[in-house]
Amino acid sequence: RTVYLNGEYLPEAEAKVSIFDRGFVMADGVYEVTSVLQGKLLDFPGHLKRLTRSLSELGMGNPLSDDEWLAIHRKLLELNDVRDGMIYLQVTRGNPGDRDFAFPPEGTPQTVVLFTQAKPGLADNPVAKTGMRVISVPDLRWARRDIKTVQLLYPSLAKMEAKKQGADDAWLVEDGFVTEGTSNNTYIVKDGKIITRDLSTDILHGITRGSLLRYAAEAQMQIEERPFTIEEAKQADEAFFTSASAFVLPVVEVDGAKVGTGTPGPVATRLRELYLEESLKSAI
Ligand code: PLP
Repeated sequence: RTVYLNGEYLPEAEAKVSIFDRGFVMADGVYEVTSVLQGKLLDFPGHLKRLTRSLSELGMGNPLSDDEWLAIHRKLLELNDVRDGMIYLQVTRGNPGDRDFAFPPEGTPQTVVLFTQAKPGLADNPVAKTGMRVISVPDLRWARRDIKTVQLLYPSLAKMEAKKQGADDAWLVEDGFVTEGTSNNTYIVKDGKIITRDLSTDILHGITRGSLLRYAAEAQMQIEERPFTIEEAKQADEAFFTSASAFVLPVVEVDGAKVGTGTPGPVATRLRELYLEESLKSAI
């Protein structure tokens, strides 16, 4: 695989980053994941906009222009012959040459890394027909989850706890309400209404969430943006989650209790189709 590192396209084994890089010793970096279908980037302007915002919230500038980001994404797809899959990008505060809590001096170059992950058949995930089983765990992350940082240890631990308990993923709960999933935004459906937590610093402002809610509103579906509890999820007609890499996936079990019929429901199934259809129309 050919990857991108600080202006160069390199074989992955030759792409090396300093042990002093702030991303490595401080998790001082942000990332984005963009899905690729039929060789095209989904929701790309949204991902770039959020990247700039994440960087800015951490006091960093965006090292590249939108056109430069697009050109790198396109080139990596071409070099690696990716039709379906995703592109990961990460920007860190760079290499100060030593370990120090204080930021490196102004002008220290940021580290920019991108790589592709080919996933043939990405849009035909069989889980869309069977659904996911989730458990709930306390949300012990820091309080700025709206910034897409590379501090992913807690979500990773939560995912492993889910697997240990024979489930597929974990939903994070704070003050009695679901914040989001380990790497996705969460929803329930009750009496035809789509319910999802409102945006704040408590959750990542999912790009897939934003697009999907727009498509759903355009299709005259009812939406309510408010927090919900695990108990409500268990009593809901349907549940599902969204992310750039999974699109829309139904959730059929929460903490061992079946949601609705215990099979993917009509709303989640329709929203998955709607998202794939509409986001492909605007893919670049
Ligand atoms: N919430 C969290 C914590 C995430 O890590 C992600 C994606 O990685 C999402 C939500 C979904 O965001 P998006 O739709 O932009 O992928």
